[in-house]
Amino acid sequence: MAHRPYIVGNWKMNGSRTMLAEARAIDRAALRYPEVQIALAPPFPFVGLLREAVNAIGIGGQDCHTAAKGAHTGDVSAAMLADIGADFVILGHSERRRDHHESDSLIRAKADAALAAGLGIIVCVGETLDERDAGQAEAVVSAQVDGSLPLGDAALEAAQAYKLAVAYEPVWAIGTGRVAAVEDVVAMHAAVRERLAAAYGDAGAKVRILYGGSVNAENAAGLLAAQGVGGALVGGASLTADAFLPIVAAAGQGEG
Ligand code: PEP
Repeated sequence: MAHRPYIVGNWKMNGSRTMLAEARAIDRAALRYPEVQIALAPPFPFVGLLREAVNAIGIGGQDCHTAAKGAHTGDVSAAMLADIGADFVILGHSERRRDHHESDSLIRAKADAALAAGLGIIVCVGETLDERDAGQAEAVVSAQVDGSLPLGDAALEAAQAYKLAVAYEPVWAIGTGRVAAVEDVVAMHAAVRERLAAAYGDAGAKVRILYGGSVNAENAAGLLAAQGVGGALVGGASLTADAFLPIVAAAGQGEG
């Protein structure tokens, strides 16, 4: 596994100030797992609050605009996230591709903006069930990687610095309790790795590829031990410390 495994909780549009207690509990426990890179991505209103509440874990946003500022009501720029102390931003989550019709080229532009603001990025890709059933999963995901990932010097530098990650999240596995078979995850991660090598050359090997889709305490160890899996993007099971920490522990065991 390249570098430390990366376990990222995506709170989606969940949470309230009371959940600061969960973030603090995760942060305290993180000291027991220095071999695991841990991060949480809360909704925008809580990014700054979590940043001030934790020390050991990363804090990120779930989206950003392509522009640094301007007349874009309701949007948040990468520069603003960086200004309140965010470390990274999740881009191109399938829920944003679906709900906000985000295209690969828009996601690439957001990735460029995030890197320019100094943020790390996690770019999400994944096929629908129809695409998998039609035998198109690898082609769809490869095209998403080719179209969404940033290119150029800033991207190369981010890859070298482990500030660039890809999350493979089959759409049919997100929030459904259905998990991709380990052999399918391994095959897809290998396909993504090929595209990363095409985009970044040797630096492509430094991009962690996370699996996402109904990861929980029971299935985490098997998924995280799989060839090419560099961590996990976790939705539902990241909302409490009790659900999230066993996944972190599984990542730590994989390293030992
Ligand atoms: C996600 O939000 O990226 C995700 C993988 O969700 P869940 O773990 O709930 O399937």
